[in-house]
Amino acid sequence: MSVRFSARYIVLIVLKLLGLAGIMAASLWAINVLLPPPPGLLHDWPRLGSSLPYTLGIGLWFLAGYGLLRFIIWDQRFRCRICCSRLRMPLTEGVYSSVWLGGAPYTEFVCTWGHGKLFIPDVHLASGRKAMWVGYNSLWDNLMKAESEAVEK
Ligand SMILES: [Zn+2]
Repeated sequence: MSVRFSARYIVLIVLKLLGLAGIMAASLWAINVLLPPPPGLLHDWPRLGSSLPYTLGIGLWFLAGYGLLRFIIWDQRFRCRICCSRLRMPLTEGVYSSVWLGGAPYTEFVCTWGHGKLFIPDVHLASGRKAMWVGYNSLWDNLMKAESEAVEK
């Protein structure tokens, strides 16, 4: 039975999300400090939608947070599920002109430490093919064993 995600993989994304939450809380605090509410009768008036600088600041804060969240998810997708290193060596296979005969095009990324590879479909059909991680728990062990057997022969 292979492990789908290692604890390191889950800890990494949790740390990234906690870091994002900290950055977003600090930047929201900075927006509220830099753009204080007006004194007087409008002190308790909601500023979002009525104050242009505050509304622009919150809008940019939201967009930055959304962009960082998307970046975290994208970065995590292209990491090894076991050792969390970046997946490398993209290799495109398949034939665009004959999907039925040559196979649907996809790109595979491998972990340089031999833990597995990630298949990303390049053609998005109605069949709903999704990215697929294939783990090789003992790829290097198998290679070393094959090499030692070849040397012995
Ligand atoms: Zn790995």
